[in-house]
Amino acid sequence: MSSGQISDKVKCTGCGSDMDGFTGVSHDAKPKDGDLSICFYCGSIGKYADNVTSLKSVPAEELERISIEEPELFRQLSSIVDEIKKMRDN
Ligand SMILES: [Zn+2]
Repeated sequence: MSSGQISDKVKCTGCGSDMDGFTGVSHDAKPKDGDLSICFYCGSIGKYADNVTSLKSVPAEELERISIEEPELFRQLSSIVDEIKKMRDN
């Protein structure tokens, strides 16, 4: 895990919250375009784009592809999303 700040304000595709920090699942220090992001507020999965200045929503087909090609990553993503949603429901 690695955490840090990204300079630009990136908005969540799900709830519109500012996301100016990150926590990486891998040991990569900084997010880059194409990396996945999970919103801490609503659990939406987004993908960094435009030099990590914006987030795009991730289509269901892409999540399905990840679940097939990278099951371990998908399992981690799902458990983080579940945790956030559980936290928000209470
Ligand atoms: Zn959100």
